[in-house]
Amino acid sequence: GKTAVAGVAGHPIAHSLSPLIHNAWIAAAGIDAVYVPFSPLPDAFQRFAEGLRGGSVRGLNVTLPFKEAALAVAEEVSERADLAGAANLLIFNDDGTITADNVDGLGLMAAFAQQAPGFDAASGPVVVIGAGGAARGAAAAFVQAGSPEIRIVNRTLARAEMIAGALGKPVSAYPLDQAAAAFHGAVAVVNATSAGVASEDALDLPLEATPEHAVLMDMTYRPLVTPYLARGRGLRRRTVDGLAMLILQAGPSFESFFGRTPPPEVDVRAMCEQVLAPPAT
Ligand code: NDP
Repeated sequence: GKTAVAGVAGHPIAHSLSPLIHNAWIAAAGIDAVYVPFSPLPDAFQRFAEGLRGGSVRGLNVTLPFKEAALAVAEEVSERADLAGAANLLIFNDDGTITADNVDGLGLMAAFAQQAPGFDAASGPVVVIGAGGAARGAAAAFVQAGSPEIRIVNRTLARAEMIAGALGKPVSAYPLDQAAAAFHGAVAVVNATSAGVASEDALDLPLEATPEHAVLMDMTYRPLVTPYLARGRGLRRRTVDGLAMLILQAGPSFESFFGRTPPPEVDVRAMCEQVLAPPAT
């Protein structure tokens, strides 16, 4: 048969862990497939996707800054991608049409299930910090998971209000200086900002105002243990990391591309950890 081709599109793409994850699964499954990184220039994503219609690439994962553009090129859009306002998965159908989906929310919920067993998104208010695409996707996932109240906290209040407007009733907006009020009674607090990768520029959040049982999650995974997660652990909160989310959205993507589940014997987490934090030599 013909080699199955899938990939990931982003700009930049060099540091993406997705090729490592998918190609390890492909090798272990013994299937004839390749997973390739693509990096169209920022203004060329639409033409790139148009050029793949009806061709031999089965599907793409989509990352920064193309998730909104990916939604726009598709004829068919899943409900969860529509709610997230973004797609992280495109399928190129044999009839030349494109289907957009978003499995980031699946990855987020599965990451909570894996690293905070027993967590119930419907059991109380959840807080999402940030108002970019990642924050909107997380808020949409909590809406779909039945969270009774979602509080978006953002430096720029107007952007949080836009997400609340798009997602409707259970979602409300808070400015960053009212984070302590937003944390009141929360069962989860998700950091979906791109701030705080270096500890000196970390968000100064009043994490001590979170309930003791609250689960703290960071979508950023460089470094694996972010300053936010380290502070949460210092306060003895349960934490969930962004690498779990990344790996757990890759599984459903792999199934969409290749029609089978990833082989469970591959320890992709250990592989990714090696890349993120290579052992000192
Ligand atoms: P955006 O750039 O769209 O959003 C950035 C957000 O961070 C904005 O709300 C912005 O606030 C806020 N922010 C940035 N710097 C600061 C600062 N110094 N102080 C306060 N707020 C700040 O990014 P995305 O939404 O696309 O992605 C966010 C993060 O999530 C990225 O690190 C990304 O890699 C990660 N991610 C991880 C995934 C995973 O699978 N683990 C999946 C998807 C994303 P303002 O609006 O005021 O500018």
